[in-house]
Amino acid sequence: MTDPRFTCGGCDNRWSGFNRCHCSACHRTFGGVGLFDAHHRERRGKGECIPPEQITTTNKAGAVSRVMFLTDAGIWQGTEHPSQNRPPKRGTR
Ligand SMILES: [Zn+2]
Ligand SMILES: [Zn+2]
Repeated sequence: MTDPRFTCGGCDNRWSGFNRCHCSACHRTFGGVGLFDAHHRERRGKGECIPPEQITTTNKAGAVSRVMFLTDAGIWQGTEHPSQNRPPKRGTR
């Protein structure tokens, strides 16, 4: 068995993983359909792509943060799981 590989007819991007969403308009690859939806908006019946680095969210404290980041693999991933950024470290004396 090999990893499922996907390609795009309009660019050289290759990616794997069934949850990935590749935009056929701006040729970015997203880690999930929710992120894809966040960058793509309908305007007067016409689809429009928003640069992911310009998509931000504001929390209750008023702090603005970006919704997704580009990984080394060239895939835009969300930050829904901030706990993953903090591996538990305890009792390492
Ligand atoms: Zn797009
Ligand atoms: Zn493409």
